[in-house]
Amino acid sequence: MKECKLYEKQKGKDKKTRCFACEHKCIISEGKTGICAVRKNVDGKLYLTVYGRVISKNVDPIEKKPLYHFLPGTKAYSIGTFGCNFRCGFCQNYDISQAQESEDYMEGVFGEKITPKQIVKEAIDNKCKTIAYTYNEPTIFIEFVKDVAVLAKKKGLKNILVTNGFMTKKCMDFIAPHLDAMNIDLKAFTDDFYKENCKARLKPVLDNIKRAHKKGIHIEITTLLIPGKNDSKKEIEKIAKFIASVNENIPWHISRFFPMYKMLKEKVTKIEKLEQAEKIGKKYLKHVHLGNV
Ligand code: SF4
Ligand code: SF4
Repeated sequence: MKECKLYEKQKGKDKKTRCFACEHKCIISEGKTGICAVRKNVDGKLYLTVYGRVISKNVDPIEKKPLYHFLPGTKAYSIGTFGCNFRCGFCQNYDISQAQESEDYMEGVFGEKITPKQIVKEAIDNKCKTIAYTYNEPTIFIEFVKDVAVLAKKKGLKNILVTNGFMTKKCMDFIAPHLDAMNIDLKAFTDDFYKENCKARLKPVLDNIKRAHKKGIHIEITTLLIPGKNDSKKEIEKIAKFIASVNENIPWHISRFFPMYKMLKEKVTKIEKLEQAEKIGKKYLKHVHLGNV
């Protein structure tokens, strides 16, 4: 556990804190955590309970992040903690991202203890060129990301954030100098989708895609196409047009949905739908890739 950087103490005697790592900007009472379940108010200070803890660490091909246009053919040392600021019913990693709902959840003692130095050493020992902060949402453990990223950079490694893009501008400014690449989910192009399916909002994600690009970070975008939810021609066209308005060279990954977590009754995305989306995407963008096929 380590004190967070991205928060402020609230005025008053009740020791509330306001986190500004992500756009939920939770006001957190003493003894409680924010929506993400990992940032906790202890005696009027906000702590990151998962600092120095990982639940998942693997050597992955960089293409699995997915990043197809950044150091292709190399390996990424991938780490994740637990918790998330979103509540996606289709989450593929719900066992860790929504771990607070599980009976095994033990605040602050969940996962393996590890220092930033050990993570960097393991990445180098495994001949990885990059460290990827992934599996669950890295915005919620951004101070840990930063400490690892600073050390990684000193040792010649690059840093990759795989994110839902819901961080605040302050958080983006905090982490951007240490990042080389990002894969940002653009899950749909309506606020309703974000509200209903993720308990979040669309606009901050669009803002962060623009910000990251402006800061010169290599970005690729991913959209999971869910039948009947975000796969209309009109919506696909809007996503492609938006990405092109930022830069037509930004790669777009359109991913196939399989029934998962709270969406077990939904159907698998038909290949024809994916191909249709690819065709629309290619009208506006130079690089469109289909995933999970
Ligand atoms: S990271 Fe987001 S969800 Fe978590 S406490 Fe901070 S504002 Fe709330
Ligand atoms: S943002 Fe990603 S990790 Fe978080 S619940 Fe949604 S799909 Fe899962």
